[in-house]
Amino acid sequence: MTRTRLSAEAAAGHVRYTYRLRVSSSARRALLAEWECCRWVWNECVARSKRAYLAAETCGPARLDRMLTAARAASPWLAAGSSVPQQQVVRDFGKSRAKAQKDIKGRLPQRQRAGLPTHKKKRDAAPSLNYTKRGFRLKGGRLHLAGGIVLTVVWSRKLPTAPSSVRVYQDRVGHWHCSFVITSEVRPLPATGRVLGVDWGVKETATTTSDAHDLPHAEHGRKAQTRITRYDRMVARRRPRKGQRASKGYGEAKKWRAKAYAKIARQRQDSARKWAKKVVTDHDVIAVEDFRPKFLAGTTMARKAADAAIGAAKRALVEMARKHGRDIRLVHPSHTTMDCGRCGARAKHALPLSERTYTCTACGSVSPRDKNSARVMLVRAGLDPAGAEGTRPPGAPLQEAARARNPLPPGRGAVKPSGTCAARRTRQARASGGLLRG
Ligand SMILES: [Zn+2]
Repeated sequence: MTRTRLSAEAAAGHVRYTYRLRVSSSARRALLAEWECCRWVWNECVARSKRAYLAAETCGPARLDRMLTAARAASPWLAAGSSVPQQQVVRDFGKSRAKAQKDIKGRLPQRQRAGLPTHKKKRDAAPSLNYTKRGFRLKGGRLHLAGGIVLTVVWSRKLPTAPSSVRVYQDRVGHWHCSFVITSEVRPLPATGRVLGVDWGVKETATTTSDAHDLPHAEHGRKAQTRITRYDRMVARRRPRKGQRASKGYGEAKKWRAKAYAKIARQRQDSARKWAKKVVTDHDVIAVEDFRPKFLAGTTMARKAADAAIGAAKRALVEMARKHGRDIRLVHPSHTTMDCGRCGARAKHALPLSERTYTCTACGSVSPRDKNSARVMLVRAGLDPAGAEGTRPPGAPLQEAARARNPLPPGRGAVKPSGTCAARRTRQARASGGLLRG
């Protein structure tokens, strides 16, 4: 009934440790030169794979590898760049293309598909270089990259083990970072004998089966909103006309705006991590709604902010649970507002949003709507809600009954509810006044 959709990186117990870099002007020039080579390789891959597609030929990684070898032999400027990050570009391109093709084959709706890899423009693409083990070295606390580039790392925390690869990149604010991939060891926490169900929402980012573990929407974006609106106007005013060079002020305004957004993201991550730590410390098994914000692209500002808060909380929870060896189960979100968390009966119609309490017609239990959904997560994950806080009416059947009533797994085979997850959330946002900014 549960699907665990953790990334390959996560499943293998790999984590990223990210640090700021101090980059000298000569190192910056060298990094940007490397990036120009990598960008050319990527764009060449895009062009080749398009041509191969039109000619009805295959264009696998081996072929692209040969293309790179030939290109390096033919153009000295490309060969002047290090081969490690360029080969990594070919590999990344292959992965990205394979993902897009899998989505097309799997007949995913357009908005959920990974798009086919596209051309990276000089102006828009942020520099990012990947080095495998043979392409970098840590010596005397400094990061040495292939091609003689030396960078000073700001060691904000200790690197626990030797890294297997590193990504060096520049963010939108213009700062350089490096992120090392290391194999993490699990740090187990004492068992608690408790389980938790988590439902995501607009007003409360997370509603759980334990009142003490609910996460109210922190609304980090609200305070910053006036500032961001100002920068948005500034960017619009300074935007170059077609065919004109962008001014320095335009670049600056964009940087300020990026800085403001980065700050909100940091605040979100901070509160999400603190909450996740508490949840993981207090529970052995956590059943979480498998929320995918992609469903909701193109909605209001308030909606986007709430989605970002949910995304940050879910990410932090999955990471934290993995770090401490807790069992985390991702539950498909369909029907979670229509099912009864106690007896498993499904309501005939989706609840109207004005209705904040869930009343079951089958067993007569009454509970707040979001709390009911949180209990549904537990039942769907095959957990006993009795292990959660709150009492169960005596004799109320548990998940066996729920399974008997809903024999279909809530995956793709299941009947779509009258209101999809996305529609439900949009309605939720509307019902709560649409004034919530995050
Ligand atoms: Zn019921």
